[in-house]
Amino acid sequence: MTSATDHLRPLLEKLTLEEKVSLIQGADFWTTVPLPSIGLRAMTLSDGPAGVRGPRWDEREPSLNLPSGSALGASWDVDLAYRYGAAAASEARRKDVDVVLGPTINLHRSPLGGRHFECFSEDPELTAELAAAYVGGLQDNGVAATPKHYVANDSETDRFTVDVRVGERALRELYLAPFERAVDAGAWALMSAYNAVDGVTMTENDLLEDPLNSEWGFDGVVVSDWTAVRSLGSVPAAQDLAMPGPAPAWAELVDAVRDGRIDESDVDRKVLRLLLLAERVGALGDAGPVAPTAVDGVSLAHEAAVEGAVLLSNDGILPLSAAEVSSIAVIGHNAREARTQGGGSATVIPERVISPLDAIRSAAPGASVSYSLGAVVQDGVAGLPLERMTNPRTGQPGLTSTFVDADGAELFSEDRRSSALVWFGGDAPVSTADRLVLHTTYTPDETGTILLGFAGANHGRVFVNGELVVDDAPVIEGTDLGAAFLNPPSLTAAIDAVQGEPIDLRAEFTLAGVDSPLVGVLSVTLGIAPDDSDPDALIVAAAAAAAASDIAVVVVGTNSKVESEGYDRVDLDLPGRQDDLVRAVAAANPRTVVIVNAGSPVALPWADDVAAIVLGYFGGQEFGTAIADILTGANEPGGRLPTTWPRALADVPVTDVTPADGVLTYDEGIHVGYRAWLQSGTAPAFAFGHGLGYTEWTWDAADADADGYAVTVTVTNSGQRAGKQVVQVYAERADSTVERPQRWLVGFAVVRAAAGETATVTVPVPARRLAHWDGAWVVEPGDYTLRVGPSVQDLPLALSWTVDA
Ligand code: BGC
Repeated sequence: MTSATDHLRPLLEKLTLEEKVSLIQGADFWTTVPLPSIGLRAMTLSDGPAGVRGPRWDEREPSLNLPSGSALGASWDVDLAYRYGAAAASEARRKDVDVVLGPTINLHRSPLGGRHFECFSEDPELTAELAAAYVGGLQDNGVAATPKHYVANDSETDRFTVDVRVGERALRELYLAPFERAVDAGAWALMSAYNAVDGVTMTENDLLEDPLNSEWGFDGVVVSDWTAVRSLGSVPAAQDLAMPGPAPAWAELVDAVRDGRIDESDVDRKVLRLLLLAERVGALGDAGPVAPTAVDGVSLAHEAAVEGAVLLSNDGILPLSAAEVSSIAVIGHNAREARTQGGGSATVIPERVISPLDAIRSAAPGASVSYSLGAVVQDGVAGLPLERMTNPRTGQPGLTSTFVDADGAELFSEDRRSSALVWFGGDAPVSTADRLVLHTTYTPDETGTILLGFAGANHGRVFVNGELVVDDAPVIEGTDLGAAFLNPPSLTAAIDAVQGEPIDLRAEFTLAGVDSPLVGVLSVTLGIAPDDSDPDALIVAAAAAAAASDIAVVVVGTNSKVESEGYDRVDLDLPGRQDDLVRAVAAANPRTVVIVNAGSPVALPWADDVAAIVLGYFGGQEFGTAIADILTGANEPGGRLPTTWPRALADVPVTDVTPADGVLTYDEGIHVGYRAWLQSGTAPAFAFGHGLGYTEWTWDAADADADGYAVTVTVTNSGQRAGKQVVQVYAERADSTVERPQRWLVGFAVVRAAAGETATVTVPVPARRLAHWDGAWVVEPGDYTLRVGPSVQDLPLALSWTVDA
């Protein structure tokens, strides 16, 4: 063990074997065991990473909801990533969290990857730089980062068991590289993945020792992904903390040490690392945590949404000129109910979300703004609006949530302000109660038939004014119980509702006898599913609204069933009739602007038919305002694609995310993302690095620095307003002795300049960026070409670069 923990040995020596073994596994879902005898308090871990949820999944304790990882990736802005990490630190401390379970730094190996939205990029260099900055932002404020999931957890299908086969070069040059940089930035923790690599599950894999501990000198704690510790085999491996705890796989650990199966020094090494982590986050002794720098979270969320929004195309319509726009047709399900984040463990509950529709209304007070749904996107039940629910016990907005025993006696009851509820840790007797009962008075805002029911994994019974209308158990598809829990199916009944006439709504969910490895976790949503019985009529109405307005703004997007943890996507299509909708609207009004509200690439088959496309990603809680400010030109969209945007799934070079006989082989080797697109010769819809702004630039000069290993680039903002440019530097190696990508990113920098201003920026290109892995990092001597420009396909400047033998 490194000397970083030597001073902690006296504390280790005070602990019994039982205490040591208890410390290296969780006390429960989110905390570690306190050991007051040595001045150690419990540490709290929490997801993240786009904000910090805290140990309770509860709308009464809301969180800052930052834009998704893919949006942060699109900013290409390390300073922003640092402040994003600092904002997470401030949220963490507000919620008494010591360790944030992020950033997620797996790669966009395929656009089909279910957690694509959570990761930054298809490129290891961009991912690595942002990861290092995020880690710094958290840890400079005294909160541990946990870069995850180490390693090759780049898709979700069979994620608990999949055995990823990946060649050593690809592993080193692509998948390990961001972790290496995060460790270099001083990460205090790191999360081992569920999957296996080359036949060995990651919590027992040698990769935890080598290169992580040996070569990279990691001295932090390897936290397992939740339930990823499977056997005592993970004890001699460098797996330090089993979460959640107590871990069944380590139940015999004390005995195993006593009877010599496990060496006590393996346990001690983990304990020392846990103590060092505790010291770092202020959980050991009297020092207490560092007070984080105050962050204005809401304005950071807005800035990150603007900087991560990519202007994919623009015929000049944007920014809108207020004088020319007196009527706007806002269209789309996601315009009214935007998706601000992806699904799964990364979910946080924001205090407020401003929809694009509301934000456009406020940003254009002089214009008449109409709204049409256009196409149904939501799949299944969504929670009831708070203002339409009255808690029968308090008369306040909300509902009662009561856990009862088999005789109906109350065990635990709360007044909640949401009908979408999750228990994942916390005090409720989820694993011991017989049933959960939800009760509210719902006042419909429309007259007609509504589809009332629930989404959940448990058997449920729904009573409307005392009458039983649903009595059924949802059919769980797929094998990922996490997905079933975080994104469960829905069951509904058609109910006649009258606007303003209250409905007594009660639902009971069976808890006893449920046989699931996810003991103690529960998620239910009581609510309404959208009516999709006449999709043509929705399109016709939207097109008519567009025809009657100066411009149309269509917000298209995905839903919770498309992008989430626990499963991969099967196609790149926008759900429902959204493509037909955009075509009809664009035909009705050529001044149509499309906002894309998705965390990962979707096919945009009508891209050439619309006036402008803004990719807003999952833009966080301030998504709506950011979009309105981009439309009006109050802000310039600052994003550049961190991932190649395909025209169609058939063109995508890497689509294989489904293991065969348990094995997923990364056959493409080092050719992932734009490297693979360059190799295939197929043109994507929009290239890696692409993104427009509201001004013009000239690319003036690129020169090698006299002392080498940096490029100085001069650009001029030749347009009419201040703007941002992302200077991207790529390397090429014409006569390499080894296989190489045609071109690869070696450095980048954000430049901001006023209208007419010339700016110079120096981009470091350390030798390692030119290296390939051949059992060690090797930099081939000889000539390289460095190309500089605004995307991988648009590189106006070049210089040659010689590495001496
Ligand atoms: C996810 C992790 C997450 C953990 C705790 C797992 O299912 O893969 O990213 O941190 O759950 O919620």
